[in-house]
Amino acid sequence: MKNDPSTKIYELLQFGEYGDVNPSVCDSATFTFMQAKTMMDTFHGESEGCFLYSRHWNPSNKYLADALAAMEGTESAWVTASGMAAITCSILQICSSGDHIVCSLTTYGGTFAFLFNYVKKFNIDVTFVDITNLDLVKQAIRPNTKMIYTETMTNPLLQISDIPALAKIADQNNIKLVVDNTFTPMIVAPHRWGAHVVVYSMTKFINGKNDCVAGAICASNDFINSLSDVNAGSAMLLGPALDPLRSSSILKNMHTLHIRMKQHSVNAMYLAGKFKEEGIKINYPGLPGNKGHKKLKEMMVPEFGFGGIIAIDMVTAERAAKLMELMELAGVGYLAVSLGYFKTLFSNSGKSTSSEIPEEIQQEMGLSEGLVRFSVGLDNDIENTWQKIKGCLEKM
Ligand code: PLP
Repeated sequence: MKNDPSTKIYELLQFGEYGDVNPSVCDSATFTFMQAKTMMDTFHGESEGCFLYSRHWNPSNKYLADALAAMEGTESAWVTASGMAAITCSILQICSSGDHIVCSLTTYGGTFAFLFNYVKKFNIDVTFVDITNLDLVKQAIRPNTKMIYTETMTNPLLQISDIPALAKIADQNNIKLVVDNTFTPMIVAPHRWGAHVVVYSMTKFINGKNDCVAGAICASNDFINSLSDVNAGSAMLLGPALDPLRSSSILKNMHTLHIRMKQHSVNAMYLAGKFKEEGIKINYPGLPGNKGHKKLKEMMVPEFGFGGIIAIDMVTAERAAKLMELMELAGVGYLAVSLGYFKTLFSNSGKSTSSEIPEEIQQEMGLSEGLVRFSVGLDNDIENTWQKIKGCLEKM
């Protein structure tokens, strides 16, 4: 039976309880057993296919985790109640008191704040470096370094991390490379380039509907099992369990991710080209002159494009605010943080999602106070959207 190709498909397809095309939602916190021994075995992770308690594992969360692992090419995955939970649980699973982390200077503000302020209380040291300068990364590594942390496309400067080179440095030093791939799902699969742990804010592109906050960790079986260990797993003990109703909804949205990523990328490329023609300072790794263009091209799956995030520089925070207000009134999209939504969102990073980063460090990393980050939506008529943006620029 096992080698019969006609049965193979049933191993891949997931049915609901009644043959439903969407897997049934498992709406329970706890699970019952007919034999006490099976419960004991499940507690110790020795009973395949059994579930114990939904903070540990839940079938709906498992369906989503399996889909994420398949997308990333990892053995396993774990879903969490936020992107920050995925990031903090991964970091705390790898690092203990006295350890050291090398981190990209440009990272999402929440991650920066966690590593700049919070881990001090655990006596964990962090060195922030320009992640595109591999010599600086190598020089920053110490005997007690346990991890290199970066984002494939950094938030909000859109620097491109050289994942194969960083993975090589990590392997040579027997440490972990942890990569946040929130901006580039499907476009880049960091694990295939050597990253040991890949984290996501699923709040963004993966879900794409802006109706929930969620996160994911994709890694080896060993790492995911260590996270869920009842005695020492950060995910099990800190407890950021994703609600199974949400898991089931995110799983359905994942089935359109490939189409959405293509359209986000096409629209972002169009607007980036128009901003450039207009003489506005534009940052988009899809443009051939961009610093990260060549590196991203080497790592990406071309059909998904260069991603949906662009950043323009309006030089001052006042000009950025004015443009964003005009664009909201003109119906370009929403003045809102976050990204990966089907509508266009824009925000001034230095005053919002990167405001946790002290001003002098913002200057050091080259984050202009006038930077407006766009998460370009799925607009069917992007030329029309551009005309609206152009109207706003003219009003300025
Ligand atoms: N990683 C990146 C790159 C982000 O932009 C964000 C949020 O903006 C996060 C992680 C945090 O995710 P969440 O808000 O789902 O906790």
